[in-house]
Amino acid sequence: MRDDLVSRDRAHLWHPYSSITDQAPLWPVVDAHGTRLVLADGRELVDGMASWWAAIHGYRHPVLDRALHDQVDRFSHVMFGGLTHEPAVALGELLVRITPAPLNRVFFADSGSVAVEVAVKMALQYWQGRGEPGRDRLLTVRGGYHGDTAGAMSICDPDTGMHGLFRSYLAQQVFVDRPRPGYEDSLRPEDLDQVRAVLEEQGERLAAVIIEPIVQGAGGMRFYAPDYLRALVGLCRSYGVLVLFDEIATGFGRTGTLFAMEHADVVPDVLCVGKALTGGTMTLGATLCTQEVAEGICRVGGFMHGPTFMANPLACAVARASVELLLDRPWQADVQRLERHLSEGLAAAADLPAVAEVRVLGGIGVVELADPPDAARLQTALVDRGAWVRPFGRLVYAMPPYVSTPDDLAVVTSAMVGAIREVCA
Ligand code: PMP
Repeated sequence: MRDDLVSRDRAHLWHPYSSITDQAPLWPVVDAHGTRLVLADGRELVDGMASWWAAIHGYRHPVLDRALHDQVDRFSHVMFGGLTHEPAVALGELLVRITPAPLNRVFFADSGSVAVEVAVKMALQYWQGRGEPGRDRLLTVRGGYHGDTAGAMSICDPDTGMHGLFRSYLAQQVFVDRPRPGYEDSLRPEDLDQVRAVLEEQGERLAAVIIEPIVQGAGGMRFYAPDYLRALVGLCRSYGVLVLFDEIATGFGRTGTLFAMEHADVVPDVLCVGKALTGGTMTLGATLCTQEVAEGICRVGGFMHGPTFMANPLACAVARASVELLLDRPWQADVQRLERHLSEGLAAAADLPAVAEVRVLGGIGVVELADPPDAARLQTALVDRGAWVRPFGRLVYAMPPYVSTPDDLAVVTSAMVGAIREVCA
C-alpha cells in the first residue's frame, strides 16, 4: 500500500515547492485524528505543524465534522452572485464581531493568496475612487511572504523569497529593510529612517503598506517589535497611505492574542485572514475592510472580483463552527501552554553548534540553523522520532494544534532537538 501510493503519486503529482527530478521523501497518510497523523505503515506521528498553521483544533474534531455534515445535507455550493445563504451571513457577522470595530465589510476569497489579491485590488480601486489613480504601488518590508499568486508574489521578499524567478513578470513594488527590532527589543528612532525617506520621496505614488503583523512567517519566521508596527502604521497614515495587514498565518490566536495586531494595539484599513479560519478543514480566506474603504472603492462601480466558489457554504459553515469553538475554548491558556512547552523543550537546541537561534512566541517554536541542512535526512530523522515537523530552508519550526498535550509537545520538541543533533552535527 505504502509503496503503491507513493509510486502512483510520483508518476503524476506535484507537491508544494517540489521538483519532479529530485524527489523528496513522501509519507502516505491514511487517517488523522486529534493531534495524530496515521501513516500507511501503521505509525502514528504527533503533528507539530497543524497543517501549516490551519488545524488549530486537531484533526476530525467532532464539532467541525458535524458542521460540515449538516451543511452537506442542505447544499454544498451555490453561486454567490445574486444569491446569499446563512453560512456566509453568519460567518461574516462573526468576523466583523471579533475584529476591530472599523472593519465591517467582508469579502470571502478562495485561499490566503486570493485574500491578499483582493486586499491589493481593494487598495488600488479605492484610490481610483478617490481620484488618485497614480497611487498604484505598494510599500512593504523585506522578509515578508504573502502567497503564490502574482500580486502576492510581487510583495514577497524579492531576493530571499520563493519567487525571485518571476521578478520580471511581477509588479514592481517598494521595499524597505525588514523590521530590525526583535519582539523584545526596543525601537530606535533610526529604525524607521528608511520608511520615512521612502514616504517623503514616493508617498504620493503609494496606495498602501502591506505587512504581516509581529510575525514574518514563511519569509523567515521572525518576530518583531510591536513598537515597530505601531510606528510604521503611524507614519504611513500621516502620508495618507492605506494600511493592509496579512493575518493569514497569525490570526485566530496563534501568537497569544486573537490577532497579532493586538500586540501593538493598531487597526488596519484592510485585513486578510485564512488558514485557521476553517480549522484546517477546507480552503477559505476573507478580506475585511472599513466602511470608508468600501465606499471609496464603490465610487467607480462594483468591486471587481468574484470567484466561482466565493463564500462556499461548506467552507463558511465549518469556519463559523471553528471560530465559535475557538472562542468557547480557553484558547489563551492553550496557547500559553504551547509557548511554555515549546520554550522548555527547544531550550536544549540553543546549545547545539548547528543552531543559530531558538525563538518562541505563542504557539510558534523556531529553531534557526546556521546552514541549510540535508532536508531529506532531517525530515526522515524527525519522522523516525514520531513527529511531523516540516523543515523549510534553515528553519525547523513547529506550530502545533492548540489541543496538543504536554506529552505531544514533548514528542515534537525532543524530535526537533534530537534530529538536529543527529543530522546537523
Ligand atoms: N499570507 C501569509 C502570511 C501566509 O503565511 C500564507 C500561506 N503560507 C499566505 C498568505 C497564502 O495563503 P494560501 O497558501 O492559503 O494561499
